Amino acid sequence: MAVAFDPRSAAGSPVDFALVVHLDRRFDYLAAGDVIAIDARSRRFRVLYRRASKHNSFLLTERCNHYCLMCSQPPRNVEDGWIIDEIADCVDLIDPATTSLGLTGGEPLLDWRRLVAVLAKMRERLPQTAVHVLTNGRAFASEAVVAAWAEIRHPHLTAGIPIYAAVDHIHDYVVQSRGAFDETVLGVLRLKDRRQRVEVRIVLHAVTAPRLKQTCEWLARNLPFVDHVALMGTENTGFALANEKLLWIDPIDYADDLVSGVGVLKAAGVNVSIYNLPLCVLHPSVWGVAVQSISDWKNTYLPLCAGCCVRAQCAGFFSTGRTRMSRGVGPVTGLRPLSAPCRQY
Ligand code: SF4
Repeated sequence: MAVAFDPRSAAGSPVDFALVVHLDRRFDYLAAGDVIAIDARSRRFRVLYRRASKHNSFLLTERCNHYCLMCSQPPRNVEDGWIIDEIADCVDLIDPATTSLGLTGGEPLLDWRRLVAVLAKMRERLPQTAVHVLTNGRAFASEAVVAAWAEIRHPHLTAGIPIYAAVDHIHDYVVQSRGAFDETVLGVLRLKDRRQRVEVRIVLHAVTAPRLKQTCEWLARNLPFVDHVALMGTENTGFALANEKLLWIDPIDYADDLVSGVGVLKAAGVNVSIYNLPLCVLHPSVWGVAVQSISDWKNTYLPLCAGCCVRAQCAGFFSTGRTRMSRGVGPVTGLRPLSAPCRQY
């Protein structure tokens, strides 16, 4: 099959290709090496992978055993096992020079045997690629799952696992599932016991942010051997929108706790980053760990950002859902509102 933008330059004749698909210029963000899935009957296609993007991510399933208050991809109990077959086929077409890939859900480990098979395929074809699996981590409470995971032996495989609070009932409340905290922590311990890479993720909202300092202290004392901790602003979409009254907190109101939390983790030797929050709502002392984490296809800035001296380093905002503005948002121009000097990069 060939894909062409210009009908006159359709590469080859029917002898060369059984099928030639012509795309109009609306899709000129696609390029050679990208992977699309075409449904010939509906004449629609989905983009599975873009070679030039640093933010390629595959959704493995919409099913989940959690029901998180702020879930950006609300789970659905549907039969979607075909997705993992499609991803397995797609792996053969991905450029081995791809720096990173994400696997997400739903809960990717609900069908852990098939996930493990896909990851083993990635180890063969994409051994240099950082593969990041977002999971609630509960499946790793099982020795059998951890053993199969460790046996994959992909050199750059990481499990990204949320622990929303150091208090079991608060974590369980956030994920709407009793017993989640105990199984998740057990899973992290079992993974690290087998020397697997683990990132702990804390999404910050009105339930988790007020306890951020204590959560970071608990992580520093009990799980200092995890490979990375990501402190993440909330994407205000999906269930986060439905629960906005419960969850909204202005990031400027937990900016000091972020400074404390980052400090505690750094002092314990833990690699820590801040995701999804614009620099102007953060204290300059933590700008060094703030990452441009929002995927390119849903990342946006405001008109006022044009005059900001840290625009090129700033994570900006989600274009998805309904972005709530912090009262701290404003261009950094030499002197910040907090009277700290503009950071030089
Ligand atoms: S004004 Fe815009 S670019 Fe500047 S720090 Fe704030 S969000 Fe980022």
